[in-house]
Amino acid sequence: MALSEKLVDLSPFDEGKVYYTNSGSEANDTMVKMLWMLHRRNGQPQRRKIITRWNAYHGVTVVTASMTGKAYNEEFGLPLPGFLHTDCPHYWRYGQDGESEAEFVQRLARNLEELIIKEGPDTIAGMFAEPVQGAGGVIPPAEGYFEAIRPILRKYGIPLIADEVICGFGRTGDMWGSVKYNMEPDAIVASKCITAGYFPMGAIILGKELSDEMIRVSEEAEEFPHGFTAGGNPLGSAIALKSLEVIEDEGLLENVNKVSPRFMERLNKLGEHKYAGEARGVGLMGAVELVADKETKEPLPGDLQVSERIANKALEKGLICRPLGAAIVLGPPFISTEEDIDQIFDILEETMEEVFADVGL
Ligand SMILES: *Cc1c(COP(=O)(O)O)cnc(C)c1O
Repeated sequence: MALSEKLVDLSPFDEGKVYYTNSGSEANDTMVKMLWMLHRRNGQPQRRKIITRWNAYHGVTVVTASMTGKAYNEEFGLPLPGFLHTDCPHYWRYGQDGESEAEFVQRLARNLEELIIKEGPDTIAGMFAEPVQGAGGVIPPAEGYFEAIRPILRKYGIPLIADEVICGFGRTGDMWGSVKYNMEPDAIVASKCITAGYFPMGAIILGKELSDEMIRVSEEAEEFPHGFTAGGNPLGSAIALKSLEVIEDEGLLENVNKVSPRFMERLNKLGEHKYAGEARGVGLMGAVELVADKETKEPLPGDLQVSERIANKALEKGLICRPLGAAIVLGPPFISTEEDIDQIFDILEETMEEVFADVGL
């Protein structure tokens, strides 16, 4: 109860309700069931399709792996039917020759509307999107992206759910990535930072409209027939309350904004390297994408496993970074100082030179 009040209070919603799970996957999965139940009870049982984007990461359950836009889920014969993927808003990678960022965004908005019309607007249950695609390689949206797609979803009565499992609680320099990027979501899915990673917990924060509707249909049905045994665990709730208190009272969000300029400066400088195709980030999340050729964006030969080698070697030197495809991903703690940031990039730069030399680049 105290945690739910806190979460609604921190959220962009004036009023709302919270539902607890044990993970981000379970929270996204539960959100899909909520939408399916709502639409059925509202006389639209055909509204079942879920739209997400290529490169998105929403989890590992059967439904959330279907929502995830990654080729590896073909291993499982996923996605399930009815899980639709639209464009990834990564201008550097998917912008066409001569296309401006604004034109790129307009093209993606048109493609989304065409997909909705082709599938039938009244068959779409909702769209889920990460404010910044995290496991896709830290991909902030192209400028104006959410502003362009939001009216289209409203026009067809399609709820927008912000998957804030990575962005939530300060990672982007705002409490919510959805606020930073003007998503205006109908609900927020949170996990990871909710307990600072110290306890498995996920939460759905429904905005006023969806919570009113969920309460109404659950009363009609006598209950929302869904629940995890350990959902809302008191130990997890206590840890979450404490970690949110630390974020608020110890000025962690302020610190993210204080050191982020140094982080971005060093990241952008790394982006000038001849094997760096793009450096991108926001707040305290960033990635540098390695290429063989800056102009053509041709990737480095995959068999060299350069990003994996860099991550392994950096770990030996005490730096944890994550190789995601050809990208090296950084997500320093919210308590990092400018000295920590410098140390991170000093180690990374040194490691990269060693690895490039090792593989004969
Ligand atoms: C990690 C992640 C999830 C899945 O959370 P789990 O707790 O691993 O199930 C979902 N969405 C996003 C954006 C994530 O980064």
